[in-house]
Parts: sequence; C-alpha cells; structure tokens
Amino acid sequence: MALPIPGSDGIPKNAIVHGACGSWWTGAERSHCGGCCRTFSSLTAFDQHRKGGRCNNPATIALAARQKPHGTLWGWPAPIGGYTGPRTRNDIEEAAA
Ligand SMILES: [Zn+2]
Ligand SMILES: [Zn+2]
Repeated sequence: MALPIPGSDGIPKNAIVHGACGSWWTGAERSHCGGCCRTFSSLTAFDQHRKGGRCNNPATIALAARQKPHGTLWGWPAPIGGYTGPRTRNDIEEAAA
C-alpha cells in the first residue's frame, strides 16, 4: 500500500503520516499509538489508553470516538452541553429562538 502524501492524495499539507500503517492526522497535540494504531486527540487521552502499559480499548475507558476526515479520533468526551453548546448570552437566546 502506498503511503498517502501530505499535500496530495486529498490530505492536508500539515498532515502527519504514520509509515507503519498509513494512518494520518493533523494537529501536533495528537498522539498516535504505535501499538494499536489508534489516534488520540491529546496526550492525556493517550496516557489513559496506555494505562498499565497496554492498549486499553478506548471505548471501555470513557474515551469518546469522533469521526474525522482521517478516521476515528479518540478523545475525552465533550463537556456537558458540548463544545458547540451555547457559550454566550446571544448564543443561548439564538438557540432558544
Ligand atoms: Zn494502543
Ligand atoms: Zn499507525
């Protein structure tokens, strides 16, 4: 399988490609597990996945799957109300309208 090339193949120029599996992602704060080739949204989520020195199934350790253009990204669940929930008075009024 040919590896995707950032800036072509329909993936962004700033994408990071893992040569072993061909997975790609964007964002320097992401962590890709060399053991199971899952991608995590943050180091703390990755640490949780690797707790005990093994690959824990993210679904069983309270991480949430988000579908991104590059595949599944595992991260902490959104706060109550969600990241996209109303944040300002205007937003709340708009949401209620
Ligand atoms: Zn893993
Ligand atoms: Zn990989």
